[in-house]
Amino acid sequence: MEKIEMICINCPLGCMLTVERDAEGGFKVSGNTCPRGEKYAVNELTHPVRTLTTTVAIGNREGKYLAVKTAKPISKAKLFEAMALVNATKAQAPVKIGDVIIENMLGEADLVAASDAE
Ligand code: SF4
Repeated sequence: MEKIEMICINCPLGCMLTVERDAEGGFKVSGNTCPRGEKYAVNELTHPVRTLTTTVAIGNREGKYLAVKTAKPISKAKLFEAMALVNATKAQAPVKIGDVIIENMLGEADLVAASDAE
């Protein structure tokens, strides 16, 4: 039976998880201190997601950038495509934290401001 090891990144404890596939194709997770670890391990093997945190240029403030993040985790497979969109985007100040910069990016989540910009 194949064993996969990974570190849970949901909290600073960083539990070392071991995942085994059972005969029915399900997953048996051990090493987790709480239920979030099991959910994380199964998601990592079936549909890994990440919250994208980055910056976007502010079009009307030369040389200034705005901190942004996805409103929820998006598919890890779409991170490069998402960054291409972010790099082609310019925010317009003023911006308040939580303002939507790209709506429903790649059909996954809004990209929102993570800081204010006057
Ligand atoms: S399994 Fe629970 S306690 Fe361990 S790192 Fe993940 S979230 Fe933290």
